[in-house]
Formats: sequence, structure tokens, C-alpha cells
Amino acid sequence: MAEKNLRHAIVTACRQMNALGINQGTSGNISVRHGTDMLISPSAVAYDTMRPEDIAVMPIAGEYGAWSGPLQPSSEWRFHLDIMKARPEVHAVVHSHPTFCTTIAITRREIPACHYMIAAFGGTNVRCAPYATFGTKALSEHALQALEGRFACLLANHGMIALGESLTKAMWRAVELETIARQYYHSLLIGGPVLLSDEEIAETARKFENYGVQEPASAA
Ligand code: 13P
Ligand code: ZN
Repeated sequence: MAEKNLRHAIVTACRQMNALGINQGTSGNISVRHGTDMLISPSAVAYDTMRPEDIAVMPIAGEYGAWSGPLQPSSEWRFHLDIMKARPEVHAVVHSHPTFCTTIAITRREIPACHYMIAAFGGTNVRCAPYATFGTKALSEHALQALEGRFACLLANHGMIALGESLTKAMWRAVELETIARQYYHSLLIGGPVLLSDEEIAETARKFENYGVQEPASAA
């Protein structure tokens, strides 16, 4: 996709995060890979006033932390950049503070195989990364570890990260993650979940090879 279209897509996705109820206020941030660069939402800007030209550009392999743009990149640029470096299959990173993911993360639990949709995140659970102050390298290192072999993780006492091979897929996972977190939370209130076996999740993962969110024609 052309850079101009990606900038628009980031602004649209930021607004969608709040409209879909998976984020609030100026929390959260989104990045997208564009060739050797990463485009990332600016820090602390209200999404309804954010413009495509406000999106910051950071080199993925160049000087660590270098950026260009009219506004500072998200304070979480470290984990966005470190994920782009470590995970070449990832083209988009969505970070937000959805209520149920964050509630589970405040209790520092992982999300277990309580629903077959756990397979959408690459394994039999979604891990919770240990706590570190927002914006730090320590938080990035914890997140990268929790994301090993996964397309999502929770961040203790903070929120969640969802990854995608495209922005559409990262947003799809962000919504599905908050949904499974909500379902898990409610199951804990009525006696606790019955968990699926590794084989049952493996079977779902096989079926997911031919099933999943479709890219809009314009994203091709
Ligand atoms: P930014 O506004 O700097 O992107 O930070 C929001 C956030 O969620 C920090 O963890
Ligand atoms: Zn955050």
C-alpha cells in the first residue's frame, strides 16, 4: 500500500479502536511497516483530531529511535520497533487498554484455552508480560518474550498488544482478544472455565489455515 494510504489507515484504525470499545481517550497506539520504515501514531494526540500527516516515520534498521514528523512518535515506539525488527512476518502492531484484557492483566493472569478462538493468537494461551513502566526498553523486552510464537500478549497492569500480517488482521485480533478476555472473565465468575486440550486447539489451528478475516480489496 502507498504511504499516503497507510497513514490514512492508521488514523482510521485509531478512531475505530475507541469506537469499538477496545480503547479510550489517547491511550493506545498503532504502527504499520512500510518497506524499511515504520509508520507510527503520534504520542498523546486525540484520535478525532489526528491527521494522516501527524503520523511519525521511524527507520526499522537505522539509528535506533530516529524519527521524522511534525509530532513526537508514540511513547511506546520501542516495543513497536523491536517487534518489527524481531518479527519480519508482522506488518502491523496495535496496542490498547481494553477493559477486560486489562482487568485480566491487572490480576497478572494469562488467558488460557477457554475458547477455540485462542488459536487465532498462535498457541494455546495468550501470555501476560511482567510489569514495567510504559515506554521503557524493559517493557519492550518483556513484551517480545511474551509474544514468542504468538500474535498477542497482555501487559501486566497496563493493557495488551495484538500483531498482524496486515493492519486489518491486527485489528481483527485486537477485537477478538478483548472478546475472549471478556468471556474468560465472566466464566471465572460462574465457577471457572473448562479448558480445551492442546489437541483440540491444534485441530482449530489447522482449520484456521483456510479461515480468517479477509483483506479489503483496497489493501491488496
Ligand atoms: P502514547 O499516547 O504515547 O502513544 O501512549 C499511550 C499508551 O498507551 C502508553 O502505553
Ligand atoms: Zn499503553
